[in-house]
Amino acid sequence: MEQRVVKPLTKDERDALLEEFNAIQDAIQEGVKKKPRMSDDERDALRDKRDKLRQEYFDRLPRILVSRCPVCKTELMRAFDPWGLDGLWWQEEEFTEFEEPPACEHFAVLTGALNLNGLPPLGGRSQANPGPEVPYVIPAVLDLPTMTAVIAQIPMENGYTAFPIAYFCERQPPPEALTQPWRETSYNYTDVEGNPAWTVKTDPWEFELGPWIQKGKVKWIAPNDDQFQIRSGAPNDYPYADVEGLREQLQITDEEMITIPPPAGEDVDPFNE
Ligand SMILES: [Zn+2]
Repeated sequence: MEQRVVKPLTKDERDALLEEFNAIQDAIQEGVKKKPRMSDDERDALRDKRDKLRQEYFDRLPRILVSRCPVCKTELMRAFDPWGLDGLWWQEEEFTEFEEPPACEHFAVLTGALNLNGLPPLGGRSQANPGPEVPYVIPAVLDLPTMTAVIAQIPMENGYTAFPIAYFCERQPPPEALTQPWRETSYNYTDVEGNPAWTVKTDPWEFELGPWIQKGKVKWIAPNDDQFQIRSGAPNDYPYADVEGLREQLQITDEEMITIPPPAGEDVDPFNE
């Protein structure tokens, strides 16, 4: 497939784009409340403009190094908004399709955590689900044959710290054995018969990583390692053991944050949310 060449957004361009995006959202909302109401053509033109901005945002987000495969050592590059949770990348409702750099065959799923480092919560208009503040693993996924988790750290421009937690394996499990990716509250996947499927995974989280590190199931990228080299060792060598923060699921909208307990294997009826 031909890679489109796009110029990544600068912070100023990204901020201006989001401002225009929000202004159009306001104009649509006001327009449909107005009497007489905005014409359908006018509304559709605004929606079209908004959708184009959203697409441009995702197409031009920086693609950065977030992990490395422990099997074949290929870099994992992903789109990422390093500037703040006001960016649509963090807001599940604003997701749209976009092209990610290709990943190696061993990549399974990217989850993550986000530490606010004691700073006030600051999101955008739609809810962000950045995970807990402390890096964690999901034993139900990590226990799958040949599965390894790699934990990395990315300092964000707004003072927060992101922790990408990527799972890799030599043998891919059936897709339904994996979990919803970072920032998503439900899991959309293609089942073994090739049909689209979705569910809400509630497998418990584990923050005590010592036993997993001991078993070689958790590896890491050292802080500030530009080369993103895979490291492993004894639990004492793990560099993120002292990360403090909430071990709950954060939900951030504008300046509001609520926390909900980590999943505990509960049944979720997705149609009754
Ligand atoms: Zn690989």
